[in-house]
Amino acid sequence: MNILYKSTRGAESGVPSSQAVLNGLASDGGLYVPENFPKMETSLEALAEMNYREVAYEVMSLFLSDYTEEELKYCIDHAYDEKFDVPEVAPLKKADDAYYLELFHGKTIAFKDMALSILPYLMTTAARKNNITNKICILTATSGDTGKAAMAGFADVPGTEIIVFYPKDGVSPVQKRQMVTQKGENTHVVAILGNFDDAQTAVKQIFGNRELAEELDTKGIQFSSANSINIGRLIPQVAYYVYAYANLLKQGVIKAGDPINVTVPTGNFGNILAAYYAKQIGLPVGKLICASNENKVLVDFFRTGVYDRKRPFILTTSPSMDILVSSNLERLIYFIADRNTEKTAAFMKSLSEEGSYTITPEMQKEIADFYGAYASEEEVSAVIADIYKNDSYVLDPHTAVAASVYRKYKTETGDQTPTVIASTASPYKFARSVLHAIDAGKFDGMTDMEQFDALHEVSGVKVPDAIEEIKTAPVRHNTVSAVADMEATVKAMLGL
Ligand SMILES: *Cc1c(COP(=O)(O)O)cnc(C)c1O
Repeated sequence: MNILYKSTRGAESGVPSSQAVLNGLASDGGLYVPENFPKMETSLEALAEMNYREVAYEVMSLFLSDYTEEELKYCIDHAYDEKFDVPEVAPLKKADDAYYLELFHGKTIAFKDMALSILPYLMTTAARKNNITNKICILTATSGDTGKAAMAGFADVPGTEIIVFYPKDGVSPVQKRQMVTQKGENTHVVAILGNFDDAQTAVKQIFGNRELAEELDTKGIQFSSANSINIGRLIPQVAYYVYAYANLLKQGVIKAGDPINVTVPTGNFGNILAAYYAKQIGLPVGKLICASNENKVLVDFFRTGVYDRKRPFILTTSPSMDILVSSNLERLIYFIADRNTEKTAAFMKSLSEEGSYTITPEMQKEIADFYGAYASEEEVSAVIADIYKNDSYVLDPHTAVAASVYRKYKTETGDQTPTVIASTASPYKFARSVLHAIDAGKFDGMTDMEQFDALHEVSGVKVPDAIEEIKTAPVRHNTVSAVADMEATVKAMLGL
């Protein structure tokens, strides 16, 4: 089946997948969505016998249907190789009555690697297919993990340039160090004097600036996005939910066709949307448990039908989820608004102009499979300590948000369905918060370097290469920009 894409806001349709990957965002500011969902034809039993790369091919070939088999297998084989430090790529670990799907075994030790290690291949292959000779400039706002993972993927890839914006005071020390030490002649990193939402909004505006696009075109450059608004980010993420299901089936935890629930620590709504897409193509998923930190705009949305970003932005120990405008929710809105692009565009207009929108009761019925709850900072700390004490398993603060919310869900509903929790970062990436939760008195006084060794002792998990690297790597990036100057900064970096 040939799957074509359209904009959630209606201006474009019939777009082949490779073109959607290249464009990133549609010309009307909407997000590309599949016009129809493909259906998985490979049996669950057959999937259970496959390795990660094979499952990824089965899933991604459904959505990225204008890539040839040879092209897609080339992308997959180069993405999911020894860059991952375990052969399973995304192993499942049982703890606290749930199955933790560890998505942090790639180069930058957070789940963004799952998609960003393949996106550069999908994009350069797409450029070749579409006879694009322009240099592709990736413009990305990051709440901490996307930026590093995108740069790791695109560093020194011929024909590309990458510019990353991160909130100066909104990322963890390890995240910051990982970014400012990034190698690669084509990488640029900018700290902005604002929060993630400011960065994301400004990046979307730069994308939407037609004059700038024309000026760039005369210089042989075009923009694209590595944010989760790009379907080239989203589709690779569908694969690991299918892989997790197949793994549970292989282990005999479930029988083929039994439902599983998934719990996802959520920020921009990309990861959980991928689970929703997995359900749409036929994976037996029951509840989609959306876990937020204290920035609980999505919890309120699922409970009331009102999305209201007009609230204080709270800095938490799970910075990659400190987000008030969850971009990928637009794709769900489109789907539950009967795939009506006019209605979707009106909701998004209301969000940008009034700061909120309210969905209809009919639409609310369509999201009954979602459950939303949040974890406070105290609850995050407590669950890290508790699961460590009971299971000797150490969670990072993002995954701990999910663990805490999953406990609440079980208490509230009594639902015993086997549940996969998306484990989105290595605890090493947030060593200070994690050790503080486990034993503040013992660990708080240590330096960052001492803490890595302490975490090794506590968890028994080897210090990842990503941490070894930043211990000695020199700082290469120190640009700081006001939000209002982001466009000028981009132009200067591209020599305009
Ligand atoms: C990005 C990120 C999230 C949030 O994922 P979304 O797809 O934006 O919802 C959660 N945890 C970690 C560690 C992340 O890097």
